[in-house]
Amino acid sequence: MRKAFGRSKLAGFHKRVESGKRLNRDEAVAMAAARELFPPAEMAGLIRDRFNGNGVYVSRNAEIALCNICRYECKFCSFRRTKGETGAFDLKPSRVVNEVKHAVSAGARHVRLVGAVSASRKIEAYESLLKRIKAIAPELCIEACSPPEIIAMSEASGKTSAEALIRLKEAGLGIVSGLGADVFAKGFRDANCPDKPGAAQWREVMADASRIGLPCAATILYGFGERTEQLVDHLIELRKLQERTRNILSLTPIPYVGPSGVANDPFLHLRMISLCRTILANVAHIQIPFRLLGGTVSQMGIVFGADALDVSFGTTFSGNVATFPDARDGDGDDVYIARLIAAIGRRLVENDGLFDKSGPVRAERLDQSEEEDPKTIADDTGAEEHNDAPDASADDQPAVPDESNSEDEGDAQPEPNGDNQ
Ligand code: SF4
Repeated sequence: MRKAFGRSKLAGFHKRVESGKRLNRDEAVAMAAARELFPPAEMAGLIRDRFNGNGVYVSRNAEIALCNICRYECKFCSFRRTKGETGAFDLKPSRVVNEVKHAVSAGARHVRLVGAVSASRKIEAYESLLKRIKAIAPELCIEACSPPEIIAMSEASGKTSAEALIRLKEAGLGIVSGLGADVFAKGFRDANCPDKPGAAQWREVMADASRIGLPCAATILYGFGERTEQLVDHLIELRKLQERTRNILSLTPIPYVGPSGVANDPFLHLRMISLCRTILANVAHIQIPFRLLGGTVSQMGIVFGADALDVSFGTTFSGNVATFPDARDGDGDDVYIARLIAAIGRRLVENDGLFDKSGPVRAERLDQSEEEDPKTIADDTGAEEHNDAPDASADDQPAVPDESNSEDEGDAQPEPNGDNQ
């Protein structure tokens, strides 16, 4: 695989990543700007395998949209509606509970409640819904309540975000949704979502969540005209947050979904996955939105640095669990996904939302029936320890976190152009 670097300008970066160092901002920008595919994939693969060995986590969750009537008007959003507009909806709690019942009976161990940001919904409404869901499915992991929602419900109830998070956790919230991060850069937000809570507020809610032991997800939007530096800065800000909190479970890069869907541009998606994996070297999991990218690009995305597939099956409105259009021969989702993973020599691990490594390994039947030897792409090296020079900057921290709680505040890299609120 060293051949992947050939005369690549990124060869020096590879040495840093290989020795467990992080890329600094300039290096990350150079990597992001390079029109190269395989050197970034090689670096991303090193980090992925250190964290996750040969495993590919699959979360077959139900994603339920609660409401699309939003107080904000983000330019990149085709989901929102105004109250009274055709297509506007706001599900009753009983309807949501029924959707959850259906999802659980279909095998979901993880449900994600998404939706627009209501101007009037109070903490009590979320508490009540979470409790009702937990009453019918106590083991279900519920991921919900993005920072903009938490800020909105706190305002509506006259409470702080920290108070809201404590109550939501007690009601059954398992993971704070990472939505609403979009692109942190102030210039991007001013142009595209000026009224929405800013990046600093998003990060502060996540820091509050870490203080009460409530895990967080993270996201980044791409493909909506953002600059390369803005993507890099977003990832570096998340890296700093993770340095402070050690509480981010995963990052999902979310492509812009336009009027005609997601860009049919595998080069864009695969480079983005490699970029996320390489820069965000202290977060264990990079997750692919399988439904948005489709089976083929998702499979390649694993080769390019991801280790997790988010296989949401939306249940809202239909109750139907769709099969993928590119599944073969009438294969159901499970067999299709297992086949994609086995074909690249990797092992499917069921993800309950929290990446519980004790979860059962599925697809054993398929692994055994494969004719070819399912060779691993790389050995499971486990977490490596590195002895950094005493004066190493935070960029020189090992890519795989140790148990220490060192912060990234001394990071030698320039401050990003991100949110300045
Ligand atoms: S806050 Fe979310 S739902 Fe509302 S407009 Fe923005 S992206 Fe759409």
